[in-house]
Amino acid sequence: MVIAERKPIEEILAMVADFKKVLLVGCKGCVTVCCAGGTKEVGILGSALRIARKKAGNPLALVEHTLERQCDPEYIEQLAPMLENGEFDAVLSMACSVGPQFIAKRYLKQVFPALNTTFIGGSLEHGVWAEFCQSCGNCIIHNFGGLCPISRCSKSLMNGPCGGSSGGKCEVSNEIDCVWQLIYDRMTALGQVDRMRKIFPIKDWSTSRDGGPRKITREDLKL
Ligand code: SF4
Ligand code: SF4
Repeated sequence: MVIAERKPIEEILAMVADFKKVLLVGCKGCVTVCCAGGTKEVGILGSALRIARKKAGNPLALVEHTLERQCDPEYIEQLAPMLENGEFDAVLSMACSVGPQFIAKRYLKQVFPALNTTFIGGSLEHGVWAEFCQSCGNCIIHNFGGLCPISRCSKSLMNGPCGGSSGGKCEVSNEIDCVWQLIYDRMTALGQVDRMRKIFPIKDWSTSRDGGPRKITREDLKL
């Protein structure tokens, strides 16, 4: 899922400082699962903003609303009754960064991101999330025991480990497992360690980052 975290309250307050009536929109997708922008977090941020603005003598009228998803036009459309009558000066989105862009695409309103979208990852334990994918566009983890060297090696090495790997830890930080050690251990356990003799070419990013924003079209799903 997409992992995000809320921006500092001071940054959000500064963004909406000149606005009197703001629609705060949450998302029930990934950001609910990673506890950054679901109904609960919308309530917490909404209260914090109201209190801070009241204390500053500049009250903020803020309405909270959480959509099923902010990355689908059909849900963004549900905001039309609120955003097409001039009631709100601005929108504050608590989705990943797709959400505020979808809202801005549909409505002529000032839209602010309340979250920082950080990475594609998963939950390691309650309250801890880690990066597992950089959406390179051509998944190759089957060559590495099912582990991704691009997202989980600090240098994105295709042939590792580097000389800094020590005791199973990455030279960048003792907090980071060297994924190449993990790959070696797993390939050994799978009885496939000989496959590590193969030299892999540097990653071909032309399937992802080159050529502008990426797009997937599924002809079988188009209406
Ligand atoms: S190889 Fe690419 S698609 Fe697969 S997990 Fe790594 S970054 Fe993601
Ligand atoms: S120590 Fe391991 S994870 Fe860190 S940069 Fe070197 S190979 Fe990559």
